[in-house]
Amino acid sequence: MRAVVVYEKGKYEVRDIPTPRLNDGDVLIKISYAALCYRDLLQLVGYYPRMKYPVVLGHEAVGVVVESRDPRFKPGDRVVPLLHEPDGVCEFCVRGLDSYCVNAHSYGEDVDGFFAEYARVSGNALVKVPSGVPDELAAFTPCVVAMVYKGLRRAGLVSGETVVVTGASGGVGIHAVQLARALGARVIAVTRSPEKAGFIRQFADEVVTESKFSKAVKDLTNGVGADIVIEAVGTPTLEESLRSLRSGGRVVVIGNVNPDETYQLRLGYIILKDVMLIGNVRSNRSDVAETFRILSRGLVKPVIAATYSLDRFGDALEFMRNSSRIGKVLIKP
Ligand SMILES: [Zn+2]
Ligand SMILES: [Zn+2]
Repeated sequence: MRAVVVYEKGKYEVRDIPTPRLNDGDVLIKISYAALCYRDLLQLVGYYPRMKYPVVLGHEAVGVVVESRDPRFKPGDRVVPLLHEPDGVCEFCVRGLDSYCVNAHSYGEDVDGFFAEYARVSGNALVKVPSGVPDELAAFTPCVVAMVYKGLRRAGLVSGETVVVTGASGGVGIHAVQLARALGARVIAVTRSPEKAGFIRQFADEVVTESKFSKAVKDLTNGVGADIVIEAVGTPTLEESLRSLRSGGRVVVIGNVNPDETYQLRLGYIILKDVMLIGNVRSNRSDVAETFRILSRGLVKPVIAATYSLDRFGDALEFMRNSSRIGKVLIKP
C-alpha cells in the first residue's frame, strides 16, 4: 500500500509498504480521508522526541472497517480512530478518561498513523461515525472538534455565555467557532486577516481583526469581558486572550504555534481575576461520541481548504504553510 513514511528526523517519502497485520483486538481500516494538522508540521521538524523511525505519519482520519479482531466492530463499519491508542485497562481507561491512559501510544508518532491506504488500529481507539456526519468532518473530529468540545466541557460552558476564538480562520479555529455556537454560545472570532473576516462572519456573531483584540472584546461585552477564550494560536495571542476575560473567566489553550516560545504569567492577574487556565490533550472516546451527536444535527460545516492525493503529500504540506488557507487540508488516499 502507499504511505507517507517518516524515516528519520525531518525526512519523509511516499512509498510502498506492506499492508499492516492485525493482533487480537485490532481492526484494519481502509482510510477514506486523512487530515493534516499543525502537529504534522511540528513532527516533521523534530519537535516530538518520542517519534519512532520509520513511522507512517498522520493522526486524523476516517475509514471503513475491512477486517476486525475486535467483536465490537465488523467489516463495513464507518469509524474514526482517536489520536492515541489507549490500553483499555489502566485506572484512567476504566474511568472513561482514556485520554490520560498511562500506556497510550500516539498514532503517527510511536505507532503507524493514517497517511496511508490502510491502517491497523486497536478497537480501544475506535468510535463509530453516525450516518448524519460526513466523512470530511469525521476525519478531524477527534483532534479538532472533540478536542474543542472537551475544552468547553471542562471550562463549564453555559448556553448564552460569550466565547472568544483566536486564530479563527485556522483548521481548529473555524470549527471551534461553529461548535461553540452550536452549544449556545455567543461567539467573537479573532483573526488578524481582514480578507478572511468576511468568510468567518457567516459562522460567528462578531469578527474582530485588531491585534490588540481585548479592547474590542470588552467593547462588545459592555466592558465586562468574555466568559471563555479558546486560544487556538498560542503565545502570540495569549496576553490579549487573558486581558479579554471577565472575572471568573476561563481560557482553554489548544494552539501552540511557537513551541519554543515561553510566556511569563503574572500570577496576580490569574488570582485576582479568578481565571482558570485549561490545557487540552487528546480527546476521550466519550467526548468524540458526544461530539458526533452534536454534529449529527448539521450545525457544524466542515471547512476544507484543499484535498490532495497521497502522492501529492509534498504539495499538501506546502499548502499547509500557506497563510491564505482557511480551514483544513485533507488527504484522500
Ligand atoms: Zn491533529
Ligand atoms: Zn489506559
